[in-house]
Amino acid sequence: MKNKRQFSVHERASQLKRVTSRLFDVVIIGGGVTGAGIALDAISRGLSVCLIEKNDFASGTSNKSTKLIHGGLRYLKQLEIGLVRESGRERAIVHKLAPHLVVPEKMLLPLYEGGTYGKLMTAIGLKVYDFLADVSGNDRRKMLSVSETIEQEPLLKKEGLQGGGYYAEYRTDDARLTIELLKKAHVLGAEVLNYCEVVSFGYTEEGNMDTAHCLDHITNEKLMISARFFVSATGPWSDVIKQLDTSKKEKTLQLSKGVHIVIPRDKLLLRQAIYFDVDDGRMIFAIPRGKVTYIGTTDTVYTASLKRIVITRKDVKYLIDAVNRMFPLAELTIRDVISSWAGIRPLVYEAGKTPSELSRKDEIFISKTGLVSIAGGKLTGYRKMAERIMNTLFSIDDSIGNRATKGALTDEIPLTNYPLQSREEVVLYRRQLKERLASLGVEDEYICWYLVSTYGKQADKILEKITHFNNEEVIEKLIRAELWYGVHHEMVVTLSDFFVRRTGYLYFEIEKIKTFRTVVASDLQNYLGFDIAEMAHQHQVLDQLLTDATTFYETE
Ligand code: FAD
Repeated sequence: MKNKRQFSVHERASQLKRVTSRLFDVVIIGGGVTGAGIALDAISRGLSVCLIEKNDFASGTSNKSTKLIHGGLRYLKQLEIGLVRESGRERAIVHKLAPHLVVPEKMLLPLYEGGTYGKLMTAIGLKVYDFLADVSGNDRRKMLSVSETIEQEPLLKKEGLQGGGYYAEYRTDDARLTIELLKKAHVLGAEVLNYCEVVSFGYTEEGNMDTAHCLDHITNEKLMISARFFVSATGPWSDVIKQLDTSKKEKTLQLSKGVHIVIPRDKLLLRQAIYFDVDDGRMIFAIPRGKVTYIGTTDTVYTASLKRIVITRKDVKYLIDAVNRMFPLAELTIRDVISSWAGIRPLVYEAGKTPSELSRKDEIFISKTGLVSIAGGKLTGYRKMAERIMNTLFSIDDSIGNRATKGALTDEIPLTNYPLQSREEVVLYRRQLKERLASLGVEDEYICWYLVSTYGKQADKILEKITHFNNEEVIEKLIRAELWYGVHHEMVVTLSDFFVRRTGYLYFEIEKIKTFRTVVASDLQNYLGFDIAEMAHQHQVLDQLLTDATTFYETE
């Protein structure tokens, strides 16, 4: 039978009834990419699943990454061969599952005298990288001479240049990836709630965890959700959840802050993404995306609040200085920064290591009450992390395996409901969409690119909706149709859900927020019946996010 449940807060009342009136096989705490991946894996193997997120989906680290699905060249340098092989293979799978959202991105690695990578090491390293990651055809690495490197990227510093490595990575949108995973898990039958926070746990007489006590921030109701297994996929909050379970004995996480800044594309007209050296021995990315280029990241120990993570002038200066050294003509200043984001890496603690030296491997912890926590890892490895969690659950109690498939099926489940099957289909669809947009009076190629890379073929639903609005400006109709889609099909509840996580406008087209927030707010209020006080609160939260993306503070 066709699934009629909508992924919309309009379903909240019936959803709350459902989640409180049954025993789930597994409750997943945390709606970042890790939790989303586990939800999809578990539901596709036949388990009953409920996922709870205290804020919006992907509002934690999964919206603040470098947005690369990558093999992790730096892990090769740290001789983490297994991690490179797994990441390399995973990126090919995730590209196949969502080719509009995980797109090939050529990367240039300029090589300098005394730099992180020497020419011979890079030639060998990239070859091993290609081999481990099963890279074939045109995507295989090429080594470039000095003149070829300059031809490839004329803005690079010439002094000391020894050549370059040119290889393939994949770019994505981390929040969109998370949302698509959750939408798919929901279609397959998972219960998925945002704005629902786990505040404590209940236990059996034997001391086994059996209930999550939650606070629904939308209805302000308290609720109890029962399950056989509880999995904490709370990233930087993992230690906090362990404290709620009173199962935390020693420090397990080392938090590290990573900042990205966004500048207009024409401030640094790169021909492709670049991965380059910083003076302190680290490396950072500069990645063109649509109308902007984003640059990052920093990697510094973080001990301040997880509620609001701000960017300091020192963070920005570090990135700007690095760019100006590598691209002397850029002459960037702090005033060129139009947006930014800061994310917290939940790294697994190892005594005596700096954040950059810590492994990006994930680790699973099982408390004596039965809480299973997963932390560390990468966006790229979300599917494998989910598989490891499922194996752990089966190893504790394989009776759930009687009803469930033992192997992961997620390498064959396309992430969107109307999937495009390949890079070629994406190109073809983009051509068709361009014509449709032109017939509506939209000639801007960027909008076509944005719609396809954000929604894939789901953009059809948005375009169909346009005619329901009678604004003069077609761009305004388009954004209203996007909001309609977000509320009815992507669980948008607040202005920030829409402007930050579903569309990425805060980072990549910040001016759109100024232009369209009034009309978007008015539609949102109509769809969801919010009162004046709720809307005022939502504007205040969005204002804070706008301020934090564009203001750089003296201290954290
Ligand atoms: P999160 O996304 O933080 O999700 C945890 C969720 O748990 C949050 O949404 C939070 O609100 C929720 N939560 C917490 N407490 C509760 C509670 N009590 N009740 C309910 N919900 C709760 N990886 C890559 O593969 N490629 C990259 O390019 C890359 N770049 C990165 C750059 C930076 C700067 C950083 C910081 C990380 C980067 N990573 C990258 C790593 C990757 O982003 C993370 O590994 C991943 O996003 C972590 O996802 P997560 O779901 O584990 O955590």
